[in-house]
Formats: sequence, structure tokens, C-alpha cells
Amino acid sequence: MQHIHDYLGVGFGPSNLALAIATREFSQGGRSANVCFLERKPAFNWHEGMLIDGSTMQISFLKDLATLRNPQSRFTFINYLKEQGRLEDFINIQTFFPTREEYNDYLGWAAAQFEDQVHYGQEVQAVEPWLENGRLLGVEVISRSQNGESQRRRARHLVLGLGGAPQVPDAFEGVRDPRVLHSSQYRGRIEPLLAGAGRRVRVAVVGGGQSAAEIFEDLTQRFPHADVAMILRGTALKPSDDSPFVNEIFNPSFIDRIFQQSDARRHELLTEFRNTNYAVVDLELIERIYQTFYLQKLRREPRHQMLAHREIAAVAADEGGLRLTVRDLVAGNQSELGFDVVVLATGYRRDQHRQLLGGLDAHLDGLEPDRNYRLRLRNSDACVYLQGCCEASHGLSDTLLSVLAIRSQEIVESIFLGRSAGTRSQGERESQLTTAL
Ligand code: NAP
Repeated sequence: MQHIHDYLGVGFGPSNLALAIATREFSQGGRSANVCFLERKPAFNWHEGMLIDGSTMQISFLKDLATLRNPQSRFTFINYLKEQGRLEDFINIQTFFPTREEYNDYLGWAAAQFEDQVHYGQEVQAVEPWLENGRLLGVEVISRSQNGESQRRRARHLVLGLGGAPQVPDAFEGVRDPRVLHSSQYRGRIEPLLAGAGRRVRVAVVGGGQSAAEIFEDLTQRFPHADVAMILRGTALKPSDDSPFVNEIFNPSFIDRIFQQSDARRHELLTEFRNTNYAVVDLELIERIYQTFYLQKLRREPRHQMLAHREIAAVAADEGGLRLTVRDLVAGNQSELGFDVVVLATGYRRDQHRQLLGGLDAHLDGLEPDRNYRLRLRNSDACVYLQGCCEASHGLSDTLLSVLAIRSQEIVESIFLGRSAGTRSQGERESQLTTAL
């Protein structure tokens, strides 16, 4: 008889890892859970393409995989440090923001404790309804391994934690050229392109967000023979707002409030607070980049460029390089610029679940999740849970690490206890912002 999982998780990044932890701790309370995760990558890795030397987290380590849900969990960042023998040294660094390298190591350490539940190298091809005698009992997930073998698994519920997919500007749609890469592929792809070029190389970085800025700085520091142009649609690099009152929008307790708003009001709030997360850069990094431009002025060595309010209208590639047709959004004119490499630091799409859920279309009433991140399958107890693609309904924190610990608790309680999120306080007092809404 085919094995039946309580839930099957697609993707094993931080969201489903936090869920695996919450599920294990829930099971330790005497309940049994039988779960399984499928991950496309051959091994655990978190944004390996953006592990830029020295880059730090922008979210406090206290918002790790478990602390906000259960500070006594063995999966907290502090316990990781203790087990690695670095807790005291970390305290001496005096920071809430570890390097991304260390955070990746923490996540990998936690993921390694779930090897028995995760199947790596499995690409999910389709999700279908699991029907018996006309009754919908759950889902069937069809995946393909790296050697092309197809497998079908059954589960009562499905949890999608797919992460983002590269967002590519229209002009680059369909351009398959190894000299064009997305920021998510930066580390690993850039080195062979630039190292040993034996001449000056021209690199364009498209975008004005944190990824673009970190990549710009890395290029200028690690590759002294690279002349780098940042090309952004905005007028200037702008700082991210991480001031304390504003930061309350990332409190898990804020989600209740934002979920209760009308669509129009939620949209207004997303727009109002966009500068906490999108197309913005850490202020200290902006200041260092400004200093780089100031020094090249001082030395009369105009190498790097900041091309603001510009958009790429077209791309042409030949052996000599990549020719970008660049439109000036203020003057309205166009010019042609040549580069050897283009890095698209143009952010992420979070719509991959739409295609994956196509096979359940006939059983779903749309793709709008309830407060429990849940899409109910009609005439059935089976549900699909969405992690990281509910920004429109659950707010700006949804795509970030901030809410992982609490969200995973809410999903576990919904699956195993039928309890609804938002019906109990997280034991935290209401924030300033929540009471103001
Ligand atoms: P992002 O904030 O979404 O920024 C994307 C940039 O690309 C924006 O400047 C956007 O400009 C531009 N863009 C988008 N589509 C474009 C198009 N078609 N043509 C031209 N420009 C286009 O993406 P990100 O910088 O990758 O950051 C994503 C998330 O990762 C953020 O939460 C960020 O904080 C996080 N991150 C964290 C770290 C760290 O922890 N150290 C490092 C990197 C990233 P418009 O505003 O004009 O659309």
C-alpha cells in the first residue's frame, strides 16, 4: 500500500525548514507526524549565489528558525553557536546581524538534522488530486530525480515553500548568453567570467536594490580590472527604512491586523512601506559606494558609473560583447552602451505556485489564502498551504525570514489541531503600530 504523509512540503529552504522544526517539536509533545519534503537542489544551500564576502544579515538573529516560537528550542541560532563553540566569541562581536555566510552555515546545520525527511535532487513536476471512489483525500505529487526517474507520493496536505524566481526585465527575456546572469547566480558565475580576463572588463549591474549595491561593491573591490556601471530606474540609491516604529510591520503579530484590512487598504500599506524592503539599500553601504565615487573623482580616474533614471530598452549580443540600448527616462532619449558582462539585480517573482497548482484547478476556489496561509480543496479536508507568496494578503513580512518561526507554528496548528491563526496572542504586548492601524 502506498505511504501517506500528513503533509508533503515542496522546497526545503528556510520556510519549510522552520516548518520541519515546528513539526518535530510538536511531535515531541506526544503526537505523531509523518512528513516529507522534496527539494530541487542536490543539497541544502541558502542563496549561495549571493554569499558575498562580509555581507551581513538585515534581520536580527533573534528572528531565527525557532526563537520567537520557542526560545528553548534546540534549533535557535544561539544553540547553534553554542554547539559550534563560538557563542562567547559571537557575543564579543556585539551584533544582532551575523554574516550571511554564518547564517547559511546555521541553516545548513539545522537542515542536516532532517536528512531523514528531505529528498534532495527532486524536481516537482506536477501536483494532482488524490481521489478514491470519487472522494478527494489529498494530493499526489509527481517529482523527477536528477537521473530522470519519476516518483509519485501521496499526502493529506501540501505545503509550498518555493522561494522566489529571478525577475528578468523584458529586454532580457529569451536572452540565453552566459555573459548575462541574475544576481542569484552571482557567486560562482562571475569568477570565471572576470578572473584572468587579462584586460579591463566592462560590467553593468542593473537594479538599485540591496543585491545591486552589494554586487557593485564586491565587483569594485574584488576585481580591480572591472569598470562597473550601475543602471537603475530610480533617481538615486535610497536607504532602507529599518527604524523601530516602522520595523513593527515585520512583527508576526502585525499580520493579524494587516490581514483584516480591505484589499485597497492593504495595497496602500504595502506601497507606504515598500521602502523597508524593495529597491532600497542599507545606508552604510550607500555611504561606502558614495565614497568610492568620490575617490575616483579625486584621483581623476572616472571608471565606475552611476546611471540613474535609465532603463534597458534592448540587448544585442555578439562576440565583441553585449550592446545595451539604454533609455533615459527623464530626457527621453536613447544611447548604446557596450559591456562584457551584465548582472541583473532585478529582484524576484513569487508566482511559481500558480503553475504548480494548475493540476488542482478544478478543486480550488482561486488562489487567495485564508489567514492560515491555506487554500481549501473543495469537498475535502485536504488543504494547500502557501509560504512566502502571500505578501498581498499577509503583508511585507511574508517573503522574509522575520515570520518563519511563528508562521510555521500557525501552519502546524492548523494542520494537526485544526486551530486557526490569529485567535491567540503570541504572548507579546500589542505593538505601537498595531494599535494605531
Ligand atoms: P529588489 O529589492 O526587489 O530590487 C530590485 C531592483 O531591480 C529595484 O531597484 C528595481 O527597480 C529593479 N528592477 C526590477 N525590475 C526591473 C526592470 N525590469 N528593469 C530595470 N530595473 C528593474 O531586489 P534585491 O535587491 O534582490 O533584494 C531582494 C530582497 O533580498 C530584499 O528583501 C533585500 O533586502 C534582500 N537582500 C538581502 C541581502 C542581505 O541580507 N545582505 C542582500 C541582498 C538582498 P524599480 O524600483 O525601478 O522597480
